[in-house]
Amino acid sequence: MIPREAWSPPVPAEAARLFRREGLTLVGIAAADASPEREAEFKAWLSEQRHGSMKWLDGHADLKFRPDSMLPGCRSVLVAALNYYQAASWRRGENLAQPASTDAPAGRIARYAWGRDYHKVIGKRLSRVVRALQETYPEDSFRSFTDATPLAERYYAEQAGAGFTARNTLSISSAFGSWFLIGEILSTRAFPPSEPAKGRHGSCPQGCYRCIDVCPTGALHAPHRIDASRCISYLTIEHKGHIPVELRRNMGTWLFGCDLCQEVCPLNVRAEVTSEEDFITLRAGDSQLLRDVLSIETDEQYTARFAGSPLMRAKRRGLVRNAAIVAANMRATDLLPLLRKRAADPDEVIAEAARWAIDELNGPGGADAPETRATPL
Ligand code: SF4
Repeated sequence: MIPREAWSPPVPAEAARLFRREGLTLVGIAAADASPEREAEFKAWLSEQRHGSMKWLDGHADLKFRPDSMLPGCRSVLVAALNYYQAASWRRGENLAQPASTDAPAGRIARYAWGRDYHKVIGKRLSRVVRALQETYPEDSFRSFTDATPLAERYYAEQAGAGFTARNTLSISSAFGSWFLIGEILSTRAFPPSEPAKGRHGSCPQGCYRCIDVCPTGALHAPHRIDASRCISYLTIEHKGHIPVELRRNMGTWLFGCDLCQEVCPLNVRAEVTSEEDFITLRAGDSQLLRDVLSIETDEQYTARFAGSPLMRAKRRGLVRNAAIVAANMRATDLLPLLRKRAADPDEVIAEAARWAIDELNGPGGADAPETRATPL
């Protein structure tokens, strides 16, 4: 295990203590400089429609690489990290969300979403750090963010020393691999900047393209290039409408998010395991039974089941739609009665996905084929 000190760049001791008190690692500090080159790249990406239906990103075009558009007079970006890696709970036999005894078909959930919603986990703590910083530096202004911000988080994290940007477009640090989440505090105070990460945390090994090779939808279409509109995380979480038919089979068993490009990465092998209670205490867990998801009839039932979990982001429409597609991909013919029910769902996105799944299961090699049966994870 690489000691955390080995990758954390020097930061003011007082600021670091405030983060530590909240269980966060202050990775480092970036100067709040604009980056016209990166801004131009981002705008080109938008003009190629790589962002799919995430139309709100269009409104971020002039803000993303300009921290002072979010905090006037901003001079520093303090970047905090929280690692979330844990072994698959079904291997430990501890999945609270799904009893290990069942072999019913279940859809996979990306690791970051097994426990409590990280926006809540990190957001509250950063707010407390902001209050403490405000007391320490009353003449300055501070503002915290995590994810729900136009800020180019990974760019400033790299500038702050968090990790280099890998070929799969994620930040990779020598302590946490890519299994970490970040939050930021913008400040009008000019803290001494840390050394940028490029090179210090290494780089992708020469000749390694595992993440690109494994991506089932071709979303990672070149090193450092992602077409978000094809990414399984986008399709299963952010995209609220019909999932393009040509991508449905490539979703495999992913019900919410996707970790494939992280799971194959050799730089993730030694990732530090999280000790964060909010992540270890499972809410959705690593998988959900498809029959349970397909049985959710109302938004109220959905909220009762997933409140506080990142799965709230997909809403009932998204998750039940995904469950229908995964049921077809798993040849889960036992679920045909439930799929027929969902085919009459008042939500047309769900109903259409259920009808497609029924056709898949009843088509050539479908429900009547002798080898057909539901396959567990
Ligand atoms: S799988 Fe290989 S190319 Fe992809 S991010 Fe990891 S080290 Fe880099």
